[in-house]
Amino acid sequence: MAKIFCIANQKGGVGKTTTAVNLAAGLAGHQQRVLLVDLDPQGNATMGSGIEKADLKNTVYQVLIGLSSVKASALRCESAGYDVLPANRDLAGAEIELVDFDDREGCLKAALSEVANDYDFILIDCPPALSLLTLNGLCAANGVIVPMQCEYFALEGLSDLVNTIKQVHANLNPDLVIIGLLRVMFDSRMTLQQQVSDQLLEHFGDKVFKTIIPRNVRLAEAPSYGLPGVVFDKASRGAKSYLDFGAEMIERIKQM
Ligand code: ATP
Ligand code: MG
Repeated sequence: MAKIFCIANQKGGVGKTTTAVNLAAGLAGHQQRVLLVDLDPQGNATMGSGIEKADLKNTVYQVLIGLSSVKASALRCESAGYDVLPANRDLAGAEIELVDFDDREGCLKAALSEVANDYDFILIDCPPALSLLTLNGLCAANGVIVPMQCEYFALEGLSDLVNTIKQVHANLNPDLVIIGLLRVMFDSRMTLQQQVSDQLLEHFGDKVFKTIIPRNVRLAEAPSYGLPGVVFDKASRGAKSYLDFGAEMIERIKQM
């Protein structure tokens, strides 16, 4: 059965989508069956997987409100070999429409349960907010992967997310745990980043992933070619680090 992970951080632009897309590609590179769910109306994970988001008939929006199934809506990222449940701006409407649903936090979980046996990993790229969409992601997941930059305010922002995860764990999804914090866009030449990284290890111990994702321009260039960085430039440091992260995740789920 698939293990389901949310890539979440309510802070914007911290590398959630880059992590979701490249972890999906990295896991596929390790022969894992992967579904990437784009849960952000920005549709960046969809575009970054080479899927044109503008004129899609079925997206995660139709799935959430019960008009389509995951199977009928998922598309293939051919370049990297994983499936994508795509999103576009239609999804912004779901936030309002779902409020009238009885099990409004549980819609994604219900939809994903139908494909749980088709995949080894389901990754959910969350929007930069602790919204009803993110709540749907957290309710569907076994765990949360938190990408973060080692900056001064990083730890502060983390406490809101940790509190939300605790509340969801207590009230809605007893399975939910933080799998780990992923240091991204890391620049080892910067003393401050090294210091924050040390603080993270001190506070969170083995909840900090061993793999560190470096700042690497190839990862930033890849989406404009509709390719995951892991495929766009296999030899780049960024690509290698996400392949390593895939291997680390495969090891982690053996302990779950
Ligand atoms: P949002 O909150 O808007 O959804 P996000 O958390 O998904 O943003 P990304 O879109 O993944 O963040 O990344 C933000 C920007 O940083 C993008 O331009 C991306 O290409 C760039 N970026 C992400 N990771 C790296 C990296 N390791 N090295 C260099 N650039 C990166
Ligand atoms: Mg994003």
